[in-house]
Amino acid sequence: MLPRRPEPLPRPSIGRMFLRGLLLSCPWCGGRGMLATYFKLKPRCPTCGLRTERGEEDFFLGAMVWNIAFAEGLLTVVLLSIGIATAPDVPWDALLYGGVAMMIVAPILFYPVSKTLWMATELLFRPLTREELEWHRTSDEKTFRGHHDR
Ligand SMILES: [Zn+2]
Repeated sequence: MLPRRPEPLPRPSIGRMFLRGLLLSCPWCGGRGMLATYFKLKPRCPTCGLRTERGEEDFFLGAMVWNIAFAEGLLTVVLLSIGIATAPDVPWDALLYGGVAMMIVAPILFYPVSKTLWMATELLFRPLTREELEWHRTSDEKTFRGHHDR
């Protein structure tokens, strides 16, 4: 007989989790205060105890995907809008230098949000169980860091 798999906890709706991520809140409970510094999340949500890294190495590589998608999407929209609005006298030099500046600034501005959005994405594809949440709340940092495949 197979061992019983832990049941996933009922999760918030997809829209709610992503909205919370966009607002830098915990995607799971909506709790605020997720940032330790601008570039770093706290180890766990101050409200529900959910770990911001769920026990995998390189957990936030996914956040980089969100960050790149946002920065490139913004660049595309801005360049196309200006190009269409000013045609046929498109200010190519301004678009070039403005685009380069935007590609430096946008990823920095979006960095914290990309992490909480990635948390929402990850919760969507790897549902949280009661056992895992309890483990997040009670495990110490050393135990958690030493276990990478849960
Ligand atoms: Zn939370």
